[in-house]
Amino acid sequence: MDLFWGTVLILLLPVAALSGWWAARRSGRDQRHAAEVRIPPEYLAGLNYVLNEEQDKAIDLFIKLLEVDNQTVETHLALGNLFRRRGEVDRAIRIHQNLIARPKLGAEHRALALLELGTDYMRSGLLDRAEGLFNELVDKDAHAEAALRALLDIYQQEKDWQKAIAIARRLESATGERFGPEIAQFHCELADEACKRGDYSAARQRLQDALENDRNCARASLTEAGICRMERQPAAAIAAYKRVGRQDPNYLPEVTGPLLECYREIGRLPEYRDYLREVVGTIGGITPLLCLTSLTEELEGRNAAAALLTAELDRRPAVRGVQRLVEYAMAVADGELQRSLNAIRQMTERLIQGKSVYQCQHCGFAAKSLHWKCPGCKSWNSIKPVFGVEGE
Ligand SMILES: [Zn+2]
Repeated sequence: MDLFWGTVLILLLPVAALSGWWAARRSGRDQRHAAEVRIPPEYLAGLNYVLNEEQDKAIDLFIKLLEVDNQTVETHLALGNLFRRRGEVDRAIRIHQNLIARPKLGAEHRALALLELGTDYMRSGLLDRAEGLFNELVDKDAHAEAALRALLDIYQQEKDWQKAIAIARRLESATGERFGPEIAQFHCELADEACKRGDYSAARQRLQDALENDRNCARASLTEAGICRMERQPAAAIAAYKRVGRQDPNYLPEVTGPLLECYREIGRLPEYRDYLREVVGTIGGITPLLCLTSLTEELEGRNAAAALLTAELDRRPAVRGVQRLVEYAMAVADGELQRSLNAIRQMTERLIQGKSVYQCQHCGFAAKSLHWKCPGCKSWNSIKPVFGVEGE
């Protein structure tokens, strides 16, 4: 018998004893006999099932044994919880359903059992059933905050962003907590859906809603810039991309490449070089620096680019920068020197190969591409580019 089943038995022992006492009282014995607590035979049979690892039979017996009254409801709830935590959700569901089916259950206990059963359903992926129970709790104003949080989770899993927005708003007024950044992400999801349908005007409206809920929603600006490019408006795209840098400088590496293309389209590359100089001077990051280096090479020649890169790397070393520097040196070297430089280039390649470019700032989840919702901890907007010598 493992530790878990030992816990279950200890949990049930006082209840079993109590029900034995009740049985004694009901059978009409006098007070002296009633005080003698005896363990009912069903309990011993249950113990036997557990010892023989016939756990389903044991549970059936315990459910039968535990007459639901105010004194045993807590035990039922604790038992159900134990099963769910152990991953035996089907058993937790049976226990909680059994509780709810009892007509004598008080309103408070019934609400608690509904909350538990809803959580069981969520755990086993029965989202529709869970949704029904949590809505019932919200309507009754019983455990409403916990139910609203669960509903928010369900609608996100179902990608029902409209309902998620409505629930987040209710949570905001119920708790005073701010859900603006999450609501903004839900609007961004709706904008992405509109983009997929080719309805850019609906998408723009959604992005406006996103920014109204969170003016620092960089994702809304990035999506807007993408729409502008689709609609061949490079100047408007530039304005939106630059807004990303002000909203959250972490996302600058996402915009430097697209900005270069937009500035090239409108023929104003020197203006972009000035912008990049400012970004590199104030915020840094190897992606903007490499973009500035390429642009300097294009506008002023390779020597100017190499000089700029050397000076910046001296301030903030980065493997990707060293790699570019070695490539510049290789272009003018020959013979033995070129072979040595090539060996160094391969080493730098190995240093950054396989390194995750993005990481969740909440749970540390490492990713190769940008996700707006962390696949690990499910939080929004927490995955950012990795900074440091081997990263940005
Ligand atoms: Zn995470």
